[in-house]
Amino acid sequence: MNWIDLRSDTVTQPTPAMRAAMSRAEVGDDVYGEDPTVNRLQEKAAELTGKQAALFVPSGTMGNLTAILAHCQRGDEVILGDKAHTFLFEAGGVSALGGVHSRQLPNQADGTLALEDIRAAIRPDDPHQPITSLITLENTHNRCGGVPLSPAYTRAVGELAYEHGLKLHLDGARLFNAAAALEVDPKALTQPVDSVTFCLSKALCAPVGSIVCGSAEFIERAHRIRKQLGGGMRQVGVLAAAGMVALETMIDRLAEDHARAQKLAEILSECPGLVLDPDTPRTNMIFCSLREGFPLTASQVAQELKAHGVQAGVAGARRFRLVTHYWIGDEDVLKAGQAFIEVLNSVPHSVRTGRDR
Ligand SMILES: *Cc1c(COP(=O)(O)O)cnc(C)c1O
Repeated sequence: MNWIDLRSDTVTQPTPAMRAAMSRAEVGDDVYGEDPTVNRLQEKAAELTGKQAALFVPSGTMGNLTAILAHCQRGDEVILGDKAHTFLFEAGGVSALGGVHSRQLPNQADGTLALEDIRAAIRPDDPHQPITSLITLENTHNRCGGVPLSPAYTRAVGELAYEHGLKLHLDGARLFNAAAALEVDPKALTQPVDSVTFCLSKALCAPVGSIVCGSAEFIERAHRIRKQLGGGMRQVGVLAAAGMVALETMIDRLAEDHARAQKLAEILSECPGLVLDPDTPRTNMIFCSLREGFPLTASQVAQELKAHGVQAGVAGARRFRLVTHYWIGDEDVLKAGQAFIEVLNSVPHSVRTGRDR
């Protein structure tokens, strides 16, 4: 079945150009540093983010873990958001594998951490307390609605980190979506940070891979940590080749995904029983919920949508996350909107409005 799969941009299949590049890729043993395609990809990534060096890793999770372990010693503390992907969805790797203590601050609705909260969380020099050594931000912020964080905010956190001798890491899994939405050069979002991770395998459509960027000295340490984590790969140029196509051809089209998300949101805003989050979508993610008292759960609605060829992301008992990406075209947007309308309308009107309940 040709699904209209809105669950995530991680479901994106590699493009025909990627498959062709993969089959042609010149490769070598990357653990020896001899894979020319990986080397080119890393150079390109460093250039795009304005950093000295970059490292190809198998996943965003390994990218963040590698970066955090390269910045922190055991017993150090990392400040991050309570809705951060690293805090919620990376299996506690920083503490399990790195002995890094995490300090979660409330994520504001706009995905930021309040500067005064960060300032208050930085530990004094006291042998009873862990040593604060790192702040991490996430851009776009997934759980906060796929919202982009501005260059000005990132700079402000960078200055705060610098003042206190801390490092700043950016989980930029969707960095290029943020840059596209804000219409800025990605470097405006990475210049203030010491390190950044971004994913090739989400909206950029590559089958596998993420990249960590930072100073040459930082990447040298990250390289050893990647090896410790079992992330040293051999003739991995076959994957880097797809990553190269991603960086060369898939960044400039991200605004199309954002426009389609806008269009889908417009259709859904007319849908009975559905309430869109304020200001959604800011990038390629729409967050919406079933109205209070609606008789079906989000999972039940998602199940019904499948009969219409649509897969929706369930983000809570009544909540959906719908993500547009390269494989969602204009036609798919209309079909998905129509499917929602049909499924939600098929619930008897009296039940839908809650009048008989
Ligand atoms: C997807 C994602 C990651 C890491 O993803 P992997 O699935 O490990 O590649 C990290 N941070 C955010 C915000 C993400 O959305």
